[in-house]
Amino acid sequence: KKARYAAMRDAASVTNDGVPVTLMINAGLRDDMSALATTGAEGVGLFRTEFQFLISATLPQRERQQRFYRDVIEAAGDKPVIFRTLDIGGDKPLPYLKDETSEEENPALGWRALRLSLDHAGLMKAQARALIEASAGRTLNVMFPMVSEPWEFDAAREIFEGQMEFLGRRKKRLPTKIRYGAMLEVPALAETLDILLPKIDFLSIGTNDLTQFLFAADRADPRLAERYDWLSPAILRFIRRVVQTTDGYPVDVAVCGEMGGRTLEALALIGLGIHRLSITPAAVGPIKAMVRSTNHADIRNKMDELLKNPTGNLREELAIWAASQGI
Ligand code: PEP
Ligand code: MG
Repeated sequence: KKARYAAMRDAASVTNDGVPVTLMINAGLRDDMSALATTGAEGVGLFRTEFQFLISATLPQRERQQRFYRDVIEAAGDKPVIFRTLDIGGDKPLPYLKDETSEEENPALGWRALRLSLDHAGLMKAQARALIEASAGRTLNVMFPMVSEPWEFDAAREIFEGQMEFLGRRKKRLPTKIRYGAMLEVPALAETLDILLPKIDFLSIGTNDLTQFLFAADRADPRLAERYDWLSPAILRFIRRVVQTTDGYPVDVAVCGEMGGRTLEALALIGLGIHRLSITPAAVGPIKAMVRSTNHADIRNKMDELLKNPTGNLREELAIWAASQGI
């Protein structure tokens, strides 16, 4: 099996009826970058910048951040890297910001991710400048975690544009372009996509947090880990509706949560109209093999059928169907 996936590295990620499915990897450390070459993934769809902060004993200063981002960009060669701004707080407390985040009763619903960054303008400005400087002469792809209302996206973008102006005035070499994205992890954002979509270049659905918030079930509680299925009508209908809402906008839509790295889940997502997945590197080979043996039109119809009247066990029904199709 291992040899089969190694051979998959150079094969195109296209369904057997010709629909491309872009496969990218999730990363957070410099060492993760070698997986681009070994898996043949098309880029990094989620670079978790908080890892550098989490493994550091003290707050990484701007220059250190910039060197790190530069290393990552260089390691990616001509493949794109989507940098996600700091996603700390919640399940990822920072020792040196602990006083501010550890007092909360519901940290997952608390002062975390973009909420924290927007209140710590100095922290976010430093990160924006580090990312901009590291991307001189190239496209910078940046996305914001836990956007809950469109104004939060505007405020975050404003910080990046402010740093661009500041560095431009100082005649620094700038990125050729910034592409902006938002993560969809908070269900409320789905209700204001008509306001958000004209502003963004890409949307990335974070199914780890999204599931937690849709089911009101702590993602870190082992007693709940098996209780709610990603292949449940609630999640699948939610994602389908998001995909349908993005129709007509020039916005890339991806899934970057762990869900996309599971074969049956990824198959379902493709059937809902998702054509970009950012997944753990080990999943790239198996998911590509699945994509190549899948007929896009057929899985679309199957998902429509399963979601029309979902009375049975959706996972089981999809698994039986997939097996019958030789997937
Ligand atoms: C997610 O929430 O699905 C996600 C990709 O982000 P993280 O797991 O880092 O919260
Ligand atoms: Mg998340």
